[in-house]
Amino acid sequence: MKKYYKVDAWQVIEEGFDKDYNRVTESIMSLGNGHMGLRGNFAEKYSGDSLQGTYIAGVYYPDKTIVGWWKNGYPEYFAKIANATNFIGIDLKIDDTVIDLNQVEFSSFKRVLNMKEAYLKRSFIVNINNQELEIIEKRFLNQKNKEIAAINYSIKALSGKHKLELKPYLDGNVKNEDANYGDFFWKGEEEINNEQQSLLSMKTKKSNFKVSTAMKWEVNKEYQELKKIKEKNYIADIITLKIEKGETVELKKYIALCTSRDYKKDLVNDQALEKVKSAAADGYQKLFAEHKKAWAKIWQESDIKIEGDLEAQQGIRFNIFHLNQTYTGHDPRLNIGPKGFTGEKYGGLTYWDTEAYCLPFYLATHSQEVAKNLLIYRYKHLEKAIENADKLGLKGALYPMVTINGEECHNEWEITFEEIHRNGAIAHAIKDYIDYTGDQEYIKDYGFEVLAEISRFWADRAHFNPRKDKYMIIGVTGPNEYENNINNNWYTNKIAVWTLKYTLENKEYLKNNYPERYQELVDKLQLSEEDYQLWQDMIEKMYYPYLDDYDIYAQQDGYLDKEQKLVSDLKEEDIPLHKNWSWDKILRSPYIKQADVLQGVYYFEDEFDQASMERHFDFYEPRTVHESSLSPCIYSIIAAEIGRKEKAYQLYLRTARLDLDNYNYDTDDGLHITSMAGTWMSIVKGFAGYEVKDSQLQFRPFLPKAWESYDFMIIFRGRRIKVEVNKEKIIFELEAGKKLTLKVYAEEYQLSAEQKLIIEK
Ligand code: BGC
Repeated sequence: MKKYYKVDAWQVIEEGFDKDYNRVTESIMSLGNGHMGLRGNFAEKYSGDSLQGTYIAGVYYPDKTIVGWWKNGYPEYFAKIANATNFIGIDLKIDDTVIDLNQVEFSSFKRVLNMKEAYLKRSFIVNINNQELEIIEKRFLNQKNKEIAAINYSIKALSGKHKLELKPYLDGNVKNEDANYGDFFWKGEEEINNEQQSLLSMKTKKSNFKVSTAMKWEVNKEYQELKKIKEKNYIADIITLKIEKGETVELKKYIALCTSRDYKKDLVNDQALEKVKSAAADGYQKLFAEHKKAWAKIWQESDIKIEGDLEAQQGIRFNIFHLNQTYTGHDPRLNIGPKGFTGEKYGGLTYWDTEAYCLPFYLATHSQEVAKNLLIYRYKHLEKAIENADKLGLKGALYPMVTINGEECHNEWEITFEEIHRNGAIAHAIKDYIDYTGDQEYIKDYGFEVLAEISRFWADRAHFNPRKDKYMIIGVTGPNEYENNINNNWYTNKIAVWTLKYTLENKEYLKNNYPERYQELVDKLQLSEEDYQLWQDMIEKMYYPYLDDYDIYAQQDGYLDKEQKLVSDLKEEDIPLHKNWSWDKILRSPYIKQADVLQGVYYFEDEFDQASMERHFDFYEPRTVHESSLSPCIYSIIAAEIGRKEKAYQLYLRTARLDLDNYNYDTDDGLHITSMAGTWMSIVKGFAGYEVKDSQLQFRPFLPKAWESYDFMIIFRGRRIKVEVNKEKIIFELEAGKKLTLKVYAEEYQLSAEQKLIIEK
C-alpha cells in the first residue's frame, strides 16, 4: 500500500514525478469514454518505464493460446483488446534538445486527473541551457461524440528565446505488451499526410477490424516551417517556430477514431476524416463544453458524496468515474473488462464480474437501456454458448468464463471446464434486471431462451446418484478459485437449482400471459414435458453439502476434512498466498480466495434468517484471504446486513481505495474496474441497505462512525431519488419522476416531489 496521490474531493493529484511509480500512475490517470481509452501516458517522448496503452472497445486480436499440455475442448485463442495507434503523441524539441522527462532536467511536475470534468492535465517546467519553459498538456476523450479526442499542448517561455519543434503524430507501430508470442497484431492499411488530410489506417490481423485515426491540429502562432512525414504505419508533422520570454505557443490536436465495427470498411477512412474536420471546426472549447455537459449529467445521476472523510470521498468518486469511463451502455456489443481500458491484463474481456458485480451499479445509476444492453450482450451470444457446451459434450448453453465474442478464451481446464457457476450469475442477472425495472417483456423477448438453455445445461451437467437419491454436480470450481475439481460446491448447486426454479416460474408466466409466444419458444427450443419434469425433480432432490457441527452449508464435500486453519494463523510473509505459496499448497489449504458460500448468502439472503447468516459469516470470514478484489464487498454487505457495522466498514476500506493506494501492489497492470462496482455496492447496498423487493425500494441505512454524512442517487423506474444519511436523519428527495412509496427499516413511507421525506434516527 502506498499513499502517493494528494487527497482531493474531485481530483487525483500527482505532485513531483516518481519514475518508478509511473506505470501505476498511468493506470490511475487513464481516460475512457466507452468507445476508446488511454492510459495516462505522456504526449511527448518518454524513454523511462511506461506502458503506452490505447485501447478501442471491441477491437481485438485472437492471440494464439499458450498451453503446456493440450486438452480437448481448450479454446484455440485468447482474444486480446489490441493496443492501438498512439494518437496522443506530440514530440517536442526545444533548441535541439528532445524533451524526454527521463533525460532532461525539470521541476514543478504535476499530473492531475480531474474526475468532475474528465480530463487529464500535466504540467512541468523544463530547464534548457539554464532557461526555463513551462509545458502544460490537457486532454480529454469526448463523452458525447465518442470518436473524438482533443489535446491542448502549450509551451510558455519563462525566459530566453527559443526554437521549438513540435511534432504531432499518429503511430500505428504499437505492440501489446501482453502478446503470447510477441506478435504484432496489426497490418498497416494506409497512410495519408498532405495539406488537407492526415490519416492512419490499420487493420487487426485475423479479426480484420479496420481502425482509422485522423488528425488535425492548429497552432496559435505563425510557424517558420512545416514538414510532412509519412512512414510505415506512422505519420507526423514537424512544425518549427520561435518563442521568446512571456510568449505561449499552443498546439491543439484533434483526433477522430472510427472503426469497421461501426461503418462499412470502405467508409471508415472518410468517416474519420470528416469527423476530425468538423471537430477542428468546432474547436477545443466547444468540444470540451459538450464533453463537460455529458459528464455533469453522469455525476448528477451517479455521484456519492461523503462528508467527514476526504479519502473516502476521493475513493468512491474515483471508482464511479472509472466505471462510467469504461462502459456507457451505448452499444450492446460491448461489455466491461475487469481492467477496462487501463491495462492489458485479462485481455479486456468479459467475465461473470459483469452480471454479479457491475449490473447493480448500472441499474441504479443509468437509464434502463444501459443495463438491458448488458443482458442483450449475453442473449446475442446464446448460440455460441450452446456450441461451447457442445464442445464439452453437454446439452444446453454454457457461457464462457472469459469472452469477447461469445467464444471461450480461458484455457485453464479448472476454469474453462469447471467454473460453471458463471452460468448462474448470467441467469440471475435476468431476474435482477426484471425485478428492478419491471420490464416483464424481457422474458418473452429474450430472457426465456437464455434461461431454458442454461437450465438444460444444468440438467445435463448434474447427475442423479441413486445411492443417495440426490442430484449432484461434481468436478467443479466454485467462485473460490483456491479449490479446483471439487464435488458439490454448495454455491454452484444452489444457483443451478435457483435457475431451474426461475425458468419454470417463467414458463408458467409465458404460458398464461403470452401463449402464442410461449408455443413459438417451445418449438424453437424444442422443450418438452420431460425437460420440465427433470428440472422439477432436480429442484426437489438436489444435494447440498452441510456442516452439521456448525449448522451451515459446506463450501463443498469434504471441506471440513482439510486442516482447519484461519487467516489469523498466517504469517505476514505468506500473504498474498498466490505470490508466496506453491499452487499445490494453496489447493491443499482451507483458505478461501473470495466469497463463495457467502456469494450464495448474498444472492439468496431471504432464505437465511439473521442467526443463520451470522453463523455463515462467522465461519467463512476468518478463513477468507480476499485475494480477489471482488471479495470484500460481498462480505461487507453481509456484515452490514447482520448489524456488524464496524466490520462492514473495515471490509469496505479494503476495496474503497484499492487502486488509489495500490493496496494489492498490482495497479501497474491496470485498475480493478469490476470490483469498483463492488465498492459502490458496499455503500449503497451495504451501509444504506438498499434493495428492490416486490417492486418497492427498501432501505436500512446506517452511517459509518468515521463519516459525518453520505448521500447518493438512485435511478428507479423513471425517477431520480437522492438519499442522504447523516448523524440525525435520513432524508429522501424525489428529484425527478412520479411519487412512490418506499420502505425504510420495514416501515412504509410516501415520497413525492413536493416534500422531502425526513426520518429522524
Ligand atoms: C477472480 C474471478 C474473476 C476474475 C476477473 C479472478 O481473480 O477469482 O472471480 O472473475 O478475477 O476479475
